[in-house]
Amino acid sequence: MDISLGCEYGKVTGIAKNATPSSGTRLSCYCSDCQAFPRHLGKAETVLDPWGGTDIFQMAQAHMEINTGADQVRCLRLSEKGLHRWYTACCNTPIGNTLGGGMPFIGIIHAFISQPGERDVLLGPSRGNVWIKDASIDALGDVPESLRKGGNPYLVLLRSIRKLIVWKLKGLDQPSPFFDKNGKPVSDPEILSA
Ligand SMILES: [Zn+2]
Ligand SMILES: [Zn+2]
Repeated sequence: MDISLGCEYGKVTGIAKNATPSSGTRLSCYCSDCQAFPRHLGKAETVLDPWGGTDIFQMAQAHMEINTGADQVRCLRLSEKGLHRWYTACCNTPIGNTLGGGMPFIGIIHAFISQPGERDVLLGPSRGNVWIKDASIDALGDVPESLRKGGNPYLVLLRSIRKLIVWKLKGLDQPSPFFDKNGKPVSDPEILSA
């Protein structure tokens, strides 16, 4: 199943090829960096759930294409060693998170998925919530028990690592919309200090 991708303005578009519940890993990340990223872009309200979670689908970069607006793709790092976090300059839509060049993983953020239809049907239900200890409690004053219990975060992370190794062995870090063959980012990362 190919899933269409696009920013809010529709300038940057792409495709996630062979994106199915089994080909990737859908999860919600509550870590403070995943919360800081959409906040910096001014998109916290549309990207984060009430407890600061981001709905992410992890897949191989070689299965993702940017077809229009590639010149609008920008990179942000929250620290020198942070993930490469990608977004669009036209409308500050977060695209996703990657490790450095040569690492095949992209965690596509739901805001960049433009395919009509329920994500639960397209990509399967979330396999779990990771970094729930960082979940924000300002919004509703509490983190519901169901969030803490939804899926074993260690099994989710294990699945992510297993997939990453398989993708690396298959050489699915290239071609990439984000890194050239030498592992250089297509857009120079802007590094945010704390
Ligand atoms: Zn995170
Ligand atoms: Zn845009």
